[in-house]
Amino acid sequence: MAYLTLTNINKIYPNGFHAVHNFNLEIEQGEFIVFVGPSGCGKSTTLRMVAGLEDISSGDFLIDGRRVNELGPREREVAMVFQSYALYPQMSVFDNLGFGLTLQGVDEDVIEERVLATAKILGLTDYLDRMPRALSGGQRQRVAVGRAIIRKVGVFLMDEPLSNLDAKQRVTMRSEITQIHRNTHATTIYVTHDQTEAMTMADRIVVMKQGYVQQVGTPYELYFKPANLFVAGFIGEPPMNFIRGTVKDKKFAIDTQSVDLSLCMGDRCAGCENREIVFGFRPEAIQLGEREGAYHLKAQVELTEMLGDNANVYITMGEEHAILKVDPHDIPPVDSGITFSVPYDRVYLFDAQTEEVIDTGADHAPVKVQAGKQ
Ligand code: ATP
Repeated sequence: MAYLTLTNINKIYPNGFHAVHNFNLEIEQGEFIVFVGPSGCGKSTTLRMVAGLEDISSGDFLIDGRRVNELGPREREVAMVFQSYALYPQMSVFDNLGFGLTLQGVDEDVIEERVLATAKILGLTDYLDRMPRALSGGQRQRVAVGRAIIRKVGVFLMDEPLSNLDAKQRVTMRSEITQIHRNTHATTIYVTHDQTEAMTMADRIVVMKQGYVQQVGTPYELYFKPANLFVAGFIGEPPMNFIRGTVKDKKFAIDTQSVDLSLCMGDRCAGCENREIVFGFRPEAIQLGEREGAYHLKAQVELTEMLGDNANVYITMGEEHAILKVDPHDIPPVDSGITFSVPYDRVYLFDAQTEEVIDTGADHAPVKVQAGKQ
């Protein structure tokens, strides 16, 4: 049995707003789960229901097989790290770290031992005498994480813990939290709206939109096998390119150009006939020029962005817009005409009405990477 089980969890706030709909998830012991989605999608509400800070309107929440819906946060043995750090300003780093244990009546010797061990894991040993105001944002965040891990609880919950840090600190803390997880093996649920954080940290990601789970999967699965248009557009940066149109005689028109869908889908494209679809391909899946096993598309270069390790090329194909990721040495001039290749096995087709994935060219291509922690 899974360590955490959420079955048909719903949240209806007292004002009648239905914030979370039939949330189902099983989490194994030691897993690092990330809830990701745009603002207001219900990820914090779900996390707060797991923490016991918010009532569960209906459904069952089990920790290690025991129903805990009615238990308070302390009895659930979970530790939470908030976006705002919530440090005690008048206490030193040492006291901030040890305060929870003091409240539990733990022996002073044991507290000192655990504070020193936690400070070591987090690189805070030299700052134990400092007050929070004399720390950088990243150091404060580390104290907040330390206060949670020092309790040695089974479940570790984090709500956007890096959002107050600058971009560079976020990257550093991201890998630090991953490292802490590797050392502690604490079952962790981490909430973020940042798909890069989700992709880099998670064992499995739960993508949410407007209170509904869209897909649960490993970073690999979400990137290569998105269940719908929303997940395909949310995971990946720049996002997947989408072109809408109708299929006629296996052909899909991209402005004045036409692609034969049977080349990427074989006989399966018969199901798309006369259907309004969305043709998707990732910016990084393309190659400039004409390659084998690929659609060749002509486009005009509108704008280019040199990023160092790669470059974004914004193109138009008549009314259609798309972004291509290219090698920084191959950036085409603005206003020039180019030809690029979209490999058949990197094409995604979605139903324009339901937004569900219809098929991907990759289904019939050899699997190149095994799913699992990236
Ligand atoms: P963010 O990234 O902005 O924190 P989120 O995905 O965590 O967003 P939640 O905070 O879970 O979203 O909120 C989900 C929805 O529930 C939002 O539409 C929000 O306005 C609503 N909501 C949150 N708290 C309450 C409340 N106490 N009463 C009514 N509605 C609420």
